[in-house]
Amino acid sequence: QTFRQRKAEARNVALVFKETGVDAVIFWGSQSGRAEAFARRLAESLEARFGLRSLAADLNDYDHANLTQLESSHLCGFVLSTHGDGDPPDNSDGFWRAIHAFSKRGAQLSNLRYMLFGLGNSKYRQFNRVAETVDDILERLGGTRIGEFGRGDDANGETEDNFLAWRTATEDLLKAELGLVEQDSIYNPAFNIQEVLLADPNGVFRGEPHQALLNQATASSKIADPKIPRALPVVHARPLWESDERLCLHVELDLGADRLVKYKTGDHLAVWPSNPVREVEQLLSLLGLQEKRETIISIGSVNTPEGGRESAFSPTTIEALFSHYLEICGLLSREAVLALASFAPSEASKTRVLQMSDNAQTFKKEVVGSHLTLPSLMRAVGGLLVWRVPLSFFLEKLKPLQPRYYSISSSAVVQPQRVSITVVVDKPPNPTSEDGAIAAVGGWGLATSYLHAVERSCNSVPSDRYHSPFALGAPRALLVDHKVFGAVRQSPFKLPVRASTPIIMVGSGTGVAPFRAFVQERARRKAMGHEVGSTFLFMGFRSPASDLLYEDEWSEHQRIIGQDLLKIWTAYSREIGKRKVYVQDRLLENAAEIMRLFEEGSGCRMYICGSADMARDVVDTLAVMRAKAAGQQHVNAWIKQLRQSKQLLEDVWN
Ligand code: NAP
Repeated sequence: QTFRQRKAEARNVALVFKETGVDAVIFWGSQSGRAEAFARRLAESLEARFGLRSLAADLNDYDHANLTQLESSHLCGFVLSTHGDGDPPDNSDGFWRAIHAFSKRGAQLSNLRYMLFGLGNSKYRQFNRVAETVDDILERLGGTRIGEFGRGDDANGETEDNFLAWRTATEDLLKAELGLVEQDSIYNPAFNIQEVLLADPNGVFRGEPHQALLNQATASSKIADPKIPRALPVVHARPLWESDERLCLHVELDLGADRLVKYKTGDHLAVWPSNPVREVEQLLSLLGLQEKRETIISIGSVNTPEGGRESAFSPTTIEALFSHYLEICGLLSREAVLALASFAPSEASKTRVLQMSDNAQTFKKEVVGSHLTLPSLMRAVGGLLVWRVPLSFFLEKLKPLQPRYYSISSSAVVQPQRVSITVVVDKPPNPTSEDGAIAAVGGWGLATSYLHAVERSCNSVPSDRYHSPFALGAPRALLVDHKVFGAVRQSPFKLPVRASTPIIMVGSGTGVAPFRAFVQERARRKAMGHEVGSTFLFMGFRSPASDLLYEDEWSEHQRIIGQDLLKIWTAYSREIGKRKVYVQDRLLENAAEIMRLFEEGSGCRMYICGSADMARDVVDTLAVMRAKAAGQQHVNAWIKQLRQSKQLLEDVWN
């Protein structure tokens, strides 16, 4: 057999079923790691509850043309997230193309029996569009869905409860349908973790998010690929404004003269944060692993067909696993906390953990509402007692640590070698208590507080100023060097090629970030002698006294572009003694001028950046303006057409 044949077979899910004897394969299409975690949990639960041999699988690792070869005894699951404007996650591209190709040629999927759970947010127009589309196509081609199509809705943080309810109902149906018998639950680790004695010290992951970074001398690190994360030096970082509850940072990073990382105006920057050292130390000590922090471990999954696929960051050290690869401060699932009870260090702590996770309401109040992280929960219930928890448990129950994305606030034309981001940091709601228990950390943005620590380190500001979780001197190596792991993600949020095309930009809060870049770029084009078209900017902030962004730059840009072309409107929602004004109010006040730009046929574009709620309300306002100008009829078709022709572009964040 050639390597190519072996590779094709490993990618054939029908063969995997036959040759390994697995009963169920649960695929995940995941952007942030959340769908992956749910897929793993479903696979583990099928195995633990009924003894079904189950495999959780990355959609990217399989060739979906083979779905037509399944037998009716094979059970598939799909856990699919929707992101952006109803887009499938990056790892689902092949699957997405395959099922659309099936749909086109009317392929037969009558043997496909599947479970389906989607992750989305009902604040977005395209709520759960990916899972919905998949369900439509699979059903149409003869597939049989087992149970309901589960819809996780993050709008009010309900996804966990949606998942648990859906899984229980689906498993109960399976039990009845297949005559499954429930087993006594015993813990079976899903990961095979071995201590490695002799490892090439250069080949051990110590926080690098990518293989190419392990050895800077390897050829792959010389490839110019903006998606490969690299350690980017911080040129400078400064607070733009600060209030009692929040502050906003401008962070500028050097992309290097070798041009290995390039960006375009409007792209996003991915930033890899690390966990707060204090939380990592707390966890190592609660697990009795302080002395073993440097131990090198290899991590493979137990139940892959090959008998153990290496994890993406193996080999690593125990400390690096908790510092850089797992979300130890992330939102805990009720199920993870329930499972933790069996490793509790005393009967009293076991009872307490079970109490906390007994039902959704108690869990919401005692764990989610108190912002408990895993280490702080263990500390809160067991004091300083040592927990004997297998490392595999953390890999199963915690999400892999993922990068966070920020809209780039600099223009690639003006500063091609430097990229800037604009980040709001919420100060923690409660100061850290004296005894080191960190109750508030879980409610505080991990990457924003990480960037805050970077800023303070760069500016030599004393570290305990805001009771930061980084107070003990976190992400050591990078902070010492003032570097951040970052990569560029391309975005369709782009200026028109011709600077003469009119644009209308609508941003609220840090949603103004990409518009700073757009205006910078238009000013540069104007200075170079290009014709610049109408450039309207609507900005919404809480108050002019606290959070107006880049105030000192706008008038200079107006001087260059011309006040008649660069027009700026501000809306303030929390100005003392004044009524709340939002950007859409300013749009309405200028409706005639805006509609004229759309109607004159110059290809005018509107850009919206900010929260999902704001973006939806702004589009609704645009519809109202259109209805007033051209009549109620065809308003939705007009908006749809604007979207299709990329005249209406949104850069929306949760
Ligand atoms: P913020 O300060 O909380 O809000 C900015 C302004 O938007 C406030 O005046 C707020 O009014 C207003 N607003 C709230 N709901 C609105 C609605 N439905 N329609 C119109 N205006 C509304 O914003 P922020 O903390 O900077 O965050 C803004 C959003 O942008 C976040 O979701 C963030 O994730 C996202 N974002 C961030 C980046 C980045 O790169 N950092 C880039 C793009 C987007 P109230 O006083 O009523 O709250």
